[in-house]
Amino acid sequence: MALSRGFRCCQRIFSWIPVIIITSVVLWSYYAYVFELCLFTLSNTLEKAAYLLVFHACFVMFLWTYWKSIFTPPSTPGKKFHLSYSDKERYDKEDRPDVQKHILMEVAKKLPIFTRTTSGAIRFCDRCQLLKPDRCHHCSVCETCVLKMDHHCPWVNNCVGFSNYKFFLLFLTYSMLYCVFIAATVFRYFLKFWSGELPNVQAKFHVLFLMFVALMFFLSLMFLFGYHCWLVTKNRSTLEAFSAPIFQTGPDKNGFNLGFRRNLIQVFGDERKLWFLPVFTSLGDGHFFPMRTQSESRNPLLGNEEQWDEDGGSDEESPAIQRDPSVTIHIES
Ligand SMILES: [Zn+2]
Ligand SMILES: [Zn+2]
Repeated sequence: MALSRGFRCCQRIFSWIPVIIITSVVLWSYYAYVFELCLFTLSNTLEKAAYLLVFHACFVMFLWTYWKSIFTPPSTPGKKFHLSYSDKERYDKEDRPDVQKHILMEVAKKLPIFTRTTSGAIRFCDRCQLLKPDRCHHCSVCETCVLKMDHHCPWVNNCVGFSNYKFFLLFLTYSMLYCVFIAATVFRYFLKFWSGELPNVQAKFHVLFLMFVALMFFLSLMFLFGYHCWLVTKNRSTLEAFSAPIFQTGPDKNGFNLGFRRNLIQVFGDERKLWFLPVFTSLGDGHFFPMRTQSESRNPLLGNEEQWDEDGGSDEESPAIQRDPSVTIHIES
């Protein structure tokens, strides 16, 4: 017991290593760019001021989004998804899997759960003892069920999911911008040092490495960023891209795909001025997500799709389940 606790403690400490590496590289890049390049090498005051201004804007946004990606705790399913004491007792006492399935099915009737396991059963997490909401998965690193889990990212040492997916996307965006800006402005001086036009030996070392590191990070981020842009436009998580969510009608990789514009609004919210800031604006509460089949249905109660958009973003605290009339229809059916 003590051994496994010690092992887990070591694991937790080691899991911070990638974050420490990224932070150290970024701090060094700050020193190299601001001091070695701008203050010690550049002679034109206007150029120096412009470089420093844009650099600091990118730097602050990068740090802010990185901080939010790391320290926003993953959101976990609410109490009503946990088995009640009596249901849990009934479930534990029962040996027959079919009856256990039936108990879960009965509980699920009161909840907005539409996805199933491959065998058509309700998705149940044995470790957390709860019925998994749609798009929720258990993370073995965080040891908890995470709402709209995307993946566990070692570079932010956190689960990327409903609570911080927007922050993670912005972190990728600002990291790319940071690298592109550095590479674009350093390139001229990189060539000058290379050809021996500038004599400062110490700055030469920093500028050469700055160029190399910025390009290296840019190239590796480019693919991840492109992939996540594609996922957002399809309203798909990384896990769902590998294994399509299963509905009562069968697996459907486009089950949550509402169309390009509405997919963006689901993640970024409907206030465009907040799209590029790391403040939480995603729609809903992470327990329920509007589905393609619902928005395509001709149900008069669903009204027009714009109505859902407006209602969905107006109040984060009231659950999406209560705001969407189509959910009531499904629960009753
Ligand atoms: Zn779990
Ligand atoms: Zn995790």
